[in-house]
Amino acid sequence: MLRRNGYASIASTMDPHEVCELHLKNRYDLILLDLVMPGMDGFQVMESLKEIEKDGYLPVLVITSQSEHKARALKAGAKDFVSKPFDLVEVLARVFNMLEVRLLHLKTRRLYDEGMVEQRALLTAKAEISRHAIHLEQVVLERTAQLREKIGELEVFSYSISHDMRQPLRAMQGYAQALLDDYGESFEPEPKLFLQQIKSAALRLDHLIQDVLTYSNATHGESEVSSIGLSEIVREVVENYPNLRNAKIEIDPSMAPVLGYEVALTQSISNLLANAVKFVPSGITPEIKIWSEPRDDCIRLWIQDNGIGIAPQDHKRIFEMFSRVHSNEVYEGTGIGLSIVAKSVGKMGGHLGVESELGKGSRFWIELQKAELP
Ligand code: ADP
Repeated sequence: MLRRNGYASIASTMDPHEVCELHLKNRYDLILLDLVMPGMDGFQVMESLKEIEKDGYLPVLVITSQSEHKARALKAGAKDFVSKPFDLVEVLARVFNMLEVRLLHLKTRRLYDEGMVEQRALLTAKAEISRHAIHLEQVVLERTAQLREKIGELEVFSYSISHDMRQPLRAMQGYAQALLDDYGESFEPEPKLFLQQIKSAALRLDHLIQDVLTYSNATHGESEVSSIGLSEIVREVVENYPNLRNAKIEIDPSMAPVLGYEVALTQSISNLLANAVKFVPSGITPEIKIWSEPRDDCIRLWIQDNGIGIAPQDHKRIFEMFSRVHSNEVYEGTGIGLSIVAKSVGKMGGHLGVESELGKGSRFWIELQKAELP
């Protein structure tokens, strides 16, 4: 009957003891099982089939004529039953349905197995990635610590070198001056000029070393930001800086306080003011205006001068170390002042910039976090 209806792979046995062995070998998709058999009944066969089908799915359709066996068979794991005597249409329908369910079951299990394999691969990859991340973090931490140590060593080294270089320089200056004072009268003009040049070169080098020291010291030892009154700090710089005495300086008295390092901010403001009085055409009295304006949660401090101005193409490079637009003959300097300002402002988490045109004065600005008013 099954063969007539298109089923091609069919086997049968009369011996219930053979069922398990055959199923183990052939893995049937459906077993039509009689319940009453000599030597071993269908319930016992199902028990031994459970040993093979570990996931609990028994592809068994029992055939029985006793109605009390039906419920017992289903409980024992059979998936369905057909009653004797057979209704062929019903048998075929149940066989078809059972096979359909069986195939779906196999497909689901295959997908599940594949999913499990993928999930396992994913978990392994995840574990591998997080192992790498931990390792990388460790490496970065170690390298950063090594770098910090090296930078610290270099800073100490450059500080002591610069510091020690000032000693012989001062000796050069002193001896040149002593020669001029004691024997200057008897010197010809040329050796006298040479001595003057030795003296002024030594002085220039001394200024350079001082600026390098200030640069490497900028913000050192200041670890805590504090609230700083801008009007007060600007006034203090103006009062303590002799070169500013001859300038006309207007300070807004009501500038808001900012968050910063006090020494670094004092240094930055005094460098900007020193430039504001230095870079003016000769014979012109420097006029400086200082005010502030709020910008979101920051305060922008403006320092405006009436000096020679800076061409727009030079605005960026003047903040770089040793970068100067004007020659040393006309305006003395080392080219370090603005890089100190940039380093200090950067350490305070602020920004800085300039607005200027040649011949029209300059407006430098520093922007820092606004401090809460007490
Ligand atoms: P230094 O003043 O020692 O030359 P800075 O780093 O302070 O070094 O300044 C770099 C250059 O920027 C100066 O040499 C000058 O050319 C230009 N500069 C700075 N401030 C001003 C200013 N207020 N007006 C015109 N030029 C300026």
